[in-house]
Amino acid sequence: MKVGIARERRPGEHRVAATPDTVGQLVALGLEVSIESGSGVESGISDASYTDAGARVVPELNLADVDVLLHVRPLSPAQASALRPGTVTVGLASPASELPTVAALAAAQVTSFALELVPRISRAQSMDALSSQALVAGYRAVIEAASRYPRFFPLYMTAAGTIPPARVLVLGAGVAGLQAIGTAKRLGARVFANDVRPASADEVRSLGGTFVDLDLDAAATEGTGGYARALSDDRAVRQRELLAPHVAAADVLITTAAIPGRAAPLLVTTDMVAGMKPGSVVIDLAAESGGNVEGVVAGVDVLVPTTAGGGTVTLVGLTDAASAMPSDASRLYAKNVANLLALMTHDGVVSPDFTDEVIASACLTTAGAVRHEPTAAALR
Ligand code: NAD
Repeated sequence: MKVGIARERRPGEHRVAATPDTVGQLVALGLEVSIESGSGVESGISDASYTDAGARVVPELNLADVDVLLHVRPLSPAQASALRPGTVTVGLASPASELPTVAALAAAQVTSFALELVPRISRAQSMDALSSQALVAGYRAVIEAASRYPRFFPLYMTAAGTIPPARVLVLGAGVAGLQAIGTAKRLGARVFANDVRPASADEVRSLGGTFVDLDLDAAATEGTGGYARALSDDRAVRQRELLAPHVAAADVLITTAAIPGRAAPLLVTTDMVAGMKPGSVVIDLAAESGGNVEGVVAGVDVLVPTTAGGGTVTLVGLTDAASAMPSDASRLYAKNVANLLALMTHDGVVSPDFTDEVIASACLTTAGAVRHEPTAAALR
């Protein structure tokens, strides 16, 4: 069967859905791989290395001529409509926000798999693109913060004086938050973190961070499947009140809080940002899904005047954080994609077995229908 990889078309997207390593994996499964010329260039992968791995490099991929299409960012409705009935697609689909594409995939009778829907179970860890890309994003958030912060992260004791370490606060200690904690620690900062999931406290401490315990009712904050639950309005207000002194004390604030399928929770108000010291930096990794910080603008640095006057706080709506490190992000992402495709490939034929929990959960559309019930409901 023919597997195609098109160059990513969305502005700001630098990743690619296959690497020479995964092309080799797919060819060994008996699949024919074609990739559009230049697809890997921003990830540091030449056309020649794809050819060496067994792929055919083509000037432009004919979408109507592939049995399987691998991609990073969600397809456009036009791309979805160009596919033949029965084509399999594997990639990020952002089903909640890309409803026109989901409708087009269903109308085109495409069997689409959304990596966001891969279940968080041990067997599917090697296909978990949310985790692999959150790892990159969490690391990158700290690098972006350090490059904007006008002072050092580590403690320096020199003959010319002592420089105190930066105080970094991380809100949301999931995959991205834990990477941010570890990275900020390695840069020498004092790191504090809060999450509403009680289990996160030990994970924060194991990385050398100090857990900020807000004493919110644990039973009300723990959701299902290891995820957090959205807080009630009064608890959310209480959380912001309790966080205020910790935010004011931080030099760098990194927010990563998310609730699956919902807008990001608001954790920090403009007043809280304005109460930080001049020169402080806030990186909101949730900017694209509404933001954890009031006033954040996705893709933009906003300068917020401090209440004390005489300076500003830089509020960064960080987007495409994983894409900003395309080589390693692509390497991990492509492996996630290839592993999911391998699960449904037998003797060179891609034939999804919907009795498999991973395949059934990850399937967004098939045979003209939207299989993922929340997305189907949103389209009705
Ligand atoms: P996520 O991106 O959905 O959310 C990020 C973090 O924000 C979570 O830790 C969440 O608890 C936190 N959060 C939500 N509301 C908050 C609030 N009001 N205040 C502070 N923090 C808030 O989560 P994720 O990074 O994808 O991981 C969620 C969980 O899934 C973690 O327990 C993680 O260890 C687990 N996980 C399991 C697997 C697996 O078993 N294969 C893989 C990845 C993650």
